[in-house]
Amino acid sequence: MFHTIIGQEETKQRLGHALTSNPGHAYIMTGPRGVGRKTIARAFAAGLLCENPDMNGACGQCPSCRYFQNSSHPDYREILLTGKEKVIPVETVRQQISGDLHLQPHLGRRKVFLITADDLNEQGQNALLKSLEEPPEPVVFLLTALSADHLLPTIVSRAVVWPVRRSKPEDLEQILHMKGFDEGPETAFYIAFSGGIPGIAVEMAASDWFADLRQETIQFFLDIPTISRADLLTDGYAFLDNNRQRMPDLLDILESLIRDLLVLPVSRSTDRLINADQAVVLKRFLQFWQDEKTARTHLTRSHEALMAARRGLSVNASFEGLACQLMLALRKELKHA
Ligand SMILES: [Zn+2]
Repeated sequence: MFHTIIGQEETKQRLGHALTSNPGHAYIMTGPRGVGRKTIARAFAAGLLCENPDMNGACGQCPSCRYFQNSSHPDYREILLTGKEKVIPVETVRQQISGDLHLQPHLGRRKVFLITADDLNEQGQNALLKSLEEPPEPVVFLLTALSADHLLPTIVSRAVVWPVRRSKPEDLEQILHMKGFDEGPETAFYIAFSGGIPGIAVEMAASDWFADLRQETIQFFLDIPTISRADLLTDGYAFLDNNRQRMPDLLDILESLIRDLLVLPVSRSTDRLINADQAVVLKRFLQFWQDEKTARTHLTRSHEALMAARRGLSVNASFEGLACQLMLALRKELKHA
C-alpha cells in the first residue's frame, strides 16, 4: 500500500525491506513539519500489522488491513497532541503505553504505537524510555520528530533513525493534483515556496488568505524603494500590524522575494525563481542598481534585516519595535536615493 505515498522511493524501499525481514522495535522518522513523517509511519504501521505484507507494504485485503483502514485496529494506537494541550501529558504516555504494553495483541503478531515525540516533554520522554528499554517481543514504536537531536540520547540509541526527505517538485505537483489543485502559476509558486514540504504546499494552496497576503506583501515590498519615511511608518506599519498573526508567513514571502532577486542575475531561466510569476517586476526592481555587486550587498543586508525580525518574533520582542526596525532597514537598503 506504499503506492499511497507519492515519491519517497528510497524510504519506501527501506520500509519494504524492514517489513519483509525482521523489523526492529523502534523507529524515529525525522524531518520538518509537513514533510510526511506521519503519513509514512502510518503506512509502515499498516504493513507491520498486515498478515501478508510484501515489499509494497500492507496487502490492503486481510482483516488487519480492513481494521486499519477503518481506524479501528485494536493493536494500533496513536499518541498525538489533542485539543489545547501544549505537550502530551505524561499520564497519557503511562496509561496508553505502559499500561497496555504487556497485553498480547488481539488480532495478529504485533502491536504498534505511533507517537509524535516532538510533543513529549522530558518527563514524557522518560516515561516512554521505560517502555523502550525492554519492549515485549511483539511491540513496535514509531516515533516522529523534527530531528533526533530533539530527543533524549537514550531514546535515540534504542531506535533506528529514518530521515524523511523533502519531495521533488514533480511529486509535489502530483500531490497537489490529487488534492484537487490544478497546474498553473499559483500552483508552481506553492511548489517552489514549500521547499519540498507537501504539508506546506497543500496548506498554502488550500488556504483562503495566503494568496491575498502574498499579493499585498509583494506590493508592500515593491513600494519600499519609493515610499517616504513618514508613509512607511504609518501605512507600511498598518499593513504589518494588520497581519501581526501571520508575520512568519509574511517574512517568508519577503524572504522569497529577496532570494529571487539574488538568484535572478545568475540564473539563465526564470524557472528557478520561487516567484516565477513576478519575474518581470523583479527584473525591473534589479535594474535600479548599477551593478550586480552593489545589488548583492544591499540585498544581503536586507536579508539580514529579515533574519533579525524573525529572531525578534521568536523571543517575543515588542512587535512595534521589530516591525519599525525591519521597515527602516529595508528602506535604507532598497530606497532609490
Ligand atoms: Zn493486509
